[in-house]
Amino acid sequence: HAKNEGGNRYLFFNDSMNKQAVKRLQIENLIRHGLKEDFFSVYYQPKMDIHSGKLLGMEALVRFITPKRGIISPATFIPVAEETGQIVEIGAVVLRKACQQVKAWIDQELFHGRVAVNLSAKQFMLPYLCEQIDDVLQQTELPSYHLELEITEGTVMQSPTMAIDTMKKLRARGIHLAMDDFGTGYSSLAYLKQFPLNTLKIDKAFIDDMDTARGRNMVDTIVTIAHNLSLTVVAEGVEEKQQLDLLKQLRCEVIQGYYYSKPLSSEDFTRFLQQQQAPNTTKVARTTATL
Ligand code: C2E
Ligand code: MG
Ligand code: MG
Ligand code: MG
Repeated sequence: HAKNEGGNRYLFFNDSMNKQAVKRLQIENLIRHGLKEDFFSVYYQPKMDIHSGKLLGMEALVRFITPKRGIISPATFIPVAEETGQIVEIGAVVLRKACQQVKAWIDQELFHGRVAVNLSAKQFMLPYLCEQIDDVLQQTELPSYHLELEITEGTVMQSPTMAIDTMKKLRARGIHLAMDDFGTGYSSLAYLKQFPLNTLKIDKAFIDDMDTARGRNMVDTIVTIAHNLSLTVVAEGVEEKQQLDLLKQLRCEVIQGYYYSKPLSSEDFTRFLQQQQAPNTTKVARTTATL
């Protein structure tokens, strides 16, 4: 069966291998097959200016859609792909497709903002990361200032000194950097101020907790920290108007979530852009960090 899914080797299971290990191997083979068959596509979720309601940019989110099994959730395959290292190849596909698509939207004058692409720890640590990104930007003819990269605390804290170095190289190209899922990992404030970030994304878990005073205080504190570091704050997973109103009071600048839109296929996002209309979107200009 594993061979049918495109694996090149025969798999022998024995009793000592638990169900989870078998499942992991099946997913690994599915991913290998999926990469060969081009089953990985990119969906896009809008990021909106909390005050104007204008589109600022979008996050590129990988989707694994197989003819036989339908959609396989990132929650299922990303952890496996991280473990096996396949995330590096998946990440390269996502980066290329996202840059290609956004270049097309820019050429059609439907979009002038930034696309955010998630980088896994393994991808971020690649010694040739910057060269890979340069190649993709060159091939797709997307100007670097239209690209943002999202990395997590876990990724940068694995080797903070190396991370700072890589981040500076990326910023020197005009690429924006966002700290994703902020507050869920471990990162020290001492390091946070040294990371050359543009944006801090507050994890959905904190947004969900805003129905309590404690939760609201927490978000207030995170926004204050971010602003003290001159970072723009994006709230993730905003689903309700009430959350949006609270976030506005707490001086959060950008929201992303089902309240505005779920992640959309490129076809659906094109329609979303057409509805937004070009004058209603925010234009980015080249700014290179001086670090
Ligand atoms: P993330 O980068 O924090 O992405 C945000 C996740 O929250 C996405 O889940 C998005 O669909 C979901 N989301 C956004 N707004 C809402 C909302 O209002 N309600 C709810 N319930 N969910 C919302 P998704 O697409 O399933 O991705 C999950 C995670 O998988 C991502 O979290 C990211 O860590 C990872 N991931 C996704 N695409 C990529 C990729 O291309 N490369 C890498 N390395 N990781 C990726
Ligand atoms: Mg993200
Ligand atoms: Mg996130
Ligand atoms: Mg997340």
